[in-house]
Amino acid sequence: MLDIQKIRADFPILSEKVNGKPLVYFDNGATSQKPQIVIDAIAKYYQEINANIHRGVHTLSQLATDAYEISRVKIQHHINAKFSHEVLFTSGTTHGINLVTNGFASILKPGDEVVVSSLEHHSNIVPWQMLCEKTGATLKVIPMNENGELIIEDFDALLSEKTKVVTVNHISNALGIINPIKYIIEKAHAVGAAVLIDGAQAVPHLKPDVQDLDCDFYAFSGHKMCGPTGTGILYGKEEWLNKLPPYQGGGEMIKEVTFEKTTYADLPHKFEAGTPNIAGGIVLGTAVDYLNNIGFDNIQEQENALLAHATKRLLEIEGLKIYGTGKNKASVVSFNIDGIHPYDIGSIIDKLGIAVRTGHHCAQPIMNFFCIPGTIRASFSFYNTIEEIDTMVEAVKKAKTMLS
Ligand SMILES: *Cc1c(COP(=O)(O)O)cnc(C)c1O
Repeated sequence: MLDIQKIRADFPILSEKVNGKPLVYFDNGATSQKPQIVIDAIAKYYQEINANIHRGVHTLSQLATDAYEISRVKIQHHINAKFSHEVLFTSGTTHGINLVTNGFASILKPGDEVVVSSLEHHSNIVPWQMLCEKTGATLKVIPMNENGELIIEDFDALLSEKTKVVTVNHISNALGIINPIKYIIEKAHAVGAAVLIDGAQAVPHLKPDVQDLDCDFYAFSGHKMCGPTGTGILYGKEEWLNKLPPYQGGGEMIKEVTFEKTTYADLPHKFEAGTPNIAGGIVLGTAVDYLNNIGFDNIQEQENALLAHATKRLLEIEGLKIYGTGKNKASVVSFNIDGIHPYDIGSIIDKLGIAVRTGHHCAQPIMNFFCIPGTIRASFSFYNTIEEIDTMVEAVKKAKTMLS
């Protein structure tokens, strides 16, 4: 078992007070907190090696370039990519997805189909809609059931030789449901479709193995896994990244430029135009090391205990309904109380120092499915405690009394 108090001491913000109360941070699905080692590594970069990368012959530029590329290799090993040039630095999941949808604009034709799931975050819906509008392809949606699970037979029925891309999230941000992506990838490949997995909510909880999954693309953000904001990774299979055109033009991404014609750099630089978030990319590696030192088995054990306790305690409250009751779940509880707007509960418990997310969680289609304006979402990390959950439950009860 983890020594949670020792781990909490790594995160300075966890000992802060909010509204005069000890902070209970249950908005990890929106962004995680950062350990001191990550905060220090950002300062260390700017204090000791700040320089532009891949350009200068001078020593600092070499040091910065080495640190950036070492981080890329670290992340390659973390997700078990075959080559480090399949690991692209991005500003986050949204950037990674848009890079792919932009590339497919030159591949899709009218009549082609793109399959997305009904559990997606807006950032894995809207770019595909824009792509379909541009190309004349059609968007198809895998439906969900009352438990918040994808209906797999309906997915099977959507697939045909017209299907060119299938995209789903690994774990739903709004409900915490873990999708059967291995099955989805295998079935999609059987009809020749490419598969993009939105791993934004998975990487804080597990170590994806992109070769075992055999996905074509896997996108995630650094800031939800203890890393800095403005960082992310797009993994793409070499053959796909070679096939797709560059996303942005500029410095870094070229081989040779004349006014007649420009040739593009090799992977990964073809997709990394301009000066990137150098500090962020390096420090994302620090965050990955931090999580691996704690160990994903330990992380899951703690988070599963938190999920079980929160589910049990919340259901003691009369009129409380949990959305996303499928059995394969990450440490997220999305709920409402009969007759009370989620925003009102969120505001009251905020006064008690408890940070939860209320609203549609960038997943309006899910809220429409359940015919609700939104939910209260408590999303837990390994550094949260059973006592914090009890504090939240008491606060929710108090809010309910005040509002009914
Ligand atoms: C947070 C999130 C995104 C978007 O990530 P950004 O860091 O905002 O780019 C996409 N998909 C899911 C499932 C998410 O949770």
